[in-house]
Amino acid sequence: MQKEFPRIKNFIDGEFVEPVGGKYLDNIEPATGKPYSKVADSGKEDVDLAVAAAEAAFADWSKMPAAERSKILLRIADLIERDLEKLSRAESIDTGKPLSLARSLDIPRASSNFRFFATAILHTENEAHVTDGVAFNYTLRQPRGIAGLISPWNLPLYLLSWKIAPAIAVGNTAIAKPSELTPMTAYLLCEICAEAGLPNGVLNVVHGTGPNVGAAVTAHPKIGTISFTGGTVTGRKVAEACAPLFKKVSLELGGKNPNIIFADADLDAAIAGSVRSSFANQGQVCLCGSRVFVERSVYKTFVDRFIDKASELKLGDPLDEKTEQGAIVSKAQLDKVKFYVDLAKKEGGVTALGGKAPDPINERCCDGYFFPPTVITDLPVSCRTNREEIFGPVVTITPFDNEEEVIGYANDTDYGLASSVWTQNLNRAHRVAERISTGTVWVNCWLVRDLRVPFGGMKASGVGREGGEEALRFFTEPKNVCIAK
Ligand code: NAP
Repeated sequence: MQKEFPRIKNFIDGEFVEPVGGKYLDNIEPATGKPYSKVADSGKEDVDLAVAAAEAAFADWSKMPAAERSKILLRIADLIERDLEKLSRAESIDTGKPLSLARSLDIPRASSNFRFFATAILHTENEAHVTDGVAFNYTLRQPRGIAGLISPWNLPLYLLSWKIAPAIAVGNTAIAKPSELTPMTAYLLCEICAEAGLPNGVLNVVHGTGPNVGAAVTAHPKIGTISFTGGTVTGRKVAEACAPLFKKVSLELGGKNPNIIFADADLDAAIAGSVRSSFANQGQVCLCGSRVFVERSVYKTFVDRFIDKASELKLGDPLDEKTEQGAIVSKAQLDKVKFYVDLAKKEGGVTALGGKAPDPINERCCDGYFFPPTVITDLPVSCRTNREEIFGPVVTITPFDNEEEVIGYANDTDYGLASSVWTQNLNRAHRVAERISTGTVWVNCWLVRDLRVPFGGMKASGVGREGGEEALRFFTEPKNVCIAK
């Protein structure tokens, strides 16, 4: 007899509802390779229902005083913190990431997203401009209506809440579409929103695949704002769908981020930071520094010590407290990682660490999607492995001789999301940061987050910025009111 799995239903108008077509997809646990729940396989009809609910909720929610909206968002943050253990465990099972990472990074950052935007809306200012002696202008920033929020699988609750919080804080209603690979924490967030007293219809979550639900969201004429995080290929499709409808669009896309180590860096800090930026979440963070460049005079020392440290990372069952490297999110993603490791060999690379699937972790995880930290050296800078996003625990390390050369290497990619620079020379740090074409440059650190700064990518890594004031502006429409004197 087939086992009955828990069903992840849609959340529409404040209620958990079956998808209209009655269909569900298996939700696989990456660490075991086996289904453990079912997720709604929704379509256009479900998006239509969500739009009707969001449209009906907009009038009251957008007029509610900011202080009242703020209180509800703060309650959501409190409840995420109360449910830290439950959410972390759910996230770890759903994504394959170590429980300790979900507990220390993903879930706390999700609650701080709600907390930040709940309070940010209490401190906004409206601009005013006096036009000589002729007129007085002021700018009204009004919510835009229904926002479509589409997010990927790697940091599911963290990234989705980064969209939901600002969108609803400023008075929009929202339709969220999580990745169908990792729907569980979005489902639990809906329970929290209902408990926190979020009015029905303000947040609706429609589960299902990108081609069915995602495409229906981007094509819907009543969803005027789209905030998308995902791969560059999908981002292009989203942009194409939105352009004819003149939607306001933000695209947070892929990366192939340079991590540059100068000879004058604090090597202990650079090695520890680089191991983390290479392999955190099994390398499945859009901001991971997957191309490491090391000044030649310290190249050999760096490579030896980096490999020593990376080989100490404990690969294991994500639910084991000691695990530092969990499972890759899906079989398809694991196959992609293996493809690039093979390609690197064909392109002349030397596998200095890892490179093949490990022995079974334990009985529970014997069919899981595991791959160890992998380091490739001796590749030409311009080869495919060095240019295309792998999104797994694979880094390349390349030597360089001078600042000019490494700036050229760093910028020699279609992407422009983030970079790290390790140096103790302050002038060099400023100089290099100014010339690298990435939306974020970290100096002597990685993944440090301040919610007030603009976040996003240049070139093929995206259009628009999230975070702080940028997000508040993105989800509102500026209207100039000009009053003659
Ligand atoms: P993806 O395949 O592009 O999917 C992202 C989201 O878009 C998913 O919810 C997906 O649904 C949906 N989708 C797929 N086709 C769609 C369509 N035609 N219209 C609308 N939505 C559609 O990306 P992923 O594999 O989930 O995530 C990995 C990528 O995200 C990497 O490239 C990574 O760099 C990027 N990323 C970027 C950032 C950033 O801030 N720049 C942050 C995290 C990740 P299904 O999954 O259900 O098909």
